[in-house]
Amino acid sequence: MSMNLEFLAFVGTALVAIAYVPQIVHIIAKHCAYGISLKAWLIWLVASILIIPHALESQNNVFIVLQVVNIVAIVFILFFTYFHGQKICKVHKFL
Ligand SMILES: [Zn+2]
Repeated sequence: MSMNLEFLAFVGTALVAIAYVPQIVHIIAKHCAYGISLKAWLIWLVASILIIPHALESQNNVFIVLQVVNIVAIVFILFFTYFHGQKICKVHKFL
């Protein structure tokens, strides 16, 4: 992989990490996990756990970092949804 393509892939990985932030902040700040399916997020977590050995074996740094980002973010979302996401905020209450 050329350096330019690898750089773009790392930028994409950073965007993936940033994309998780609004969801995590909403759960923590509002104690609202409206629309979050724990089953779906658990499946995504298992998928990333199953993918990461291949990423490590292929020594693809972007692939490795992407899976670590996914695993950490998904664990955060599952944790905060389970322990802090029992309310429905005002915005989601009227949807
Ligand atoms: Zn909400």
